[in-house]
Amino acid sequence: MPAGIKKKKSQLLAKAALVLDALQKRYPEPQTHLVAHNAWELLVATILSAQCTDARVNMVTPALFALWPSPRDLAAAPLEKVEECIRSTGFYRNKAKNIIAAAQRITTVYAGEVPSTMHDLITLAGVARKTANVVLWGAFGRNEGIAVDTHVGRIAFRLGLASGHDPAVTEKEMMALFPKTAWGVVNHSMVWFGRQVCDARKPLCQECEFLQICERNGL
Ligand code: SF4
Repeated sequence: MPAGIKKKKSQLLAKAALVLDALQKRYPEPQTHLVAHNAWELLVATILSAQCTDARVNMVTPALFALWPSPRDLAAAPLEKVEECIRSTGFYRNKAKNIIAAAQRITTVYAGEVPSTMHDLITLAGVARKTANVVLWGAFGRNEGIAVDTHVGRIAFRLGLASGHDPAVTEKEMMALFPKTAWGVVNHSMVWFGRQVCDARKPLCQECEFLQICERNGL
């Protein structure tokens, strides 16, 4: 590896270490905002959270899980009733179709248990790497990747830890910079940080602990 590239990589690693340290100080126990009591509920809530606030999802899921508590229950649920129940989360037709199809696959292929590997999770309807990463860490404590949502992608790019806006590329770049044991923490603490400090439109840079090391890319 040429010396210049090696140096750049070591600088990025040092920056990532600083960022992780500061995020852990700010958020000692970062957790998802979604209310869920088991892997199944977390999976459904995460699917519903696409293009929707967590607060809105949390308003909808109690009724949904009261009517259809398990994958087996939801697998047999009438589509129109599920649509009605989750309507306020947006894109409700697709989401209803997806959570029913996921429930059916979990029931028939995985004996009613949410699978605990990336390989199996991404075979479920409505589940891509981002959702699978959230479920793997939140429900099983497994770090198989870094969920790159809008907050994580934006902050990583602004800080100069990611080269662009493609979530798949950003995930790979960040996985190379942060220790595997911290991947779930990186995701959840960056989501909080994005909501509280590094806002998409009005980032609070003067109050930010990263001001001296942030490239403020895109600003
Ligand atoms: Fe975001 Fe500004 Fe902090 Fe950079 S300095 S991480 S742009 S709030």
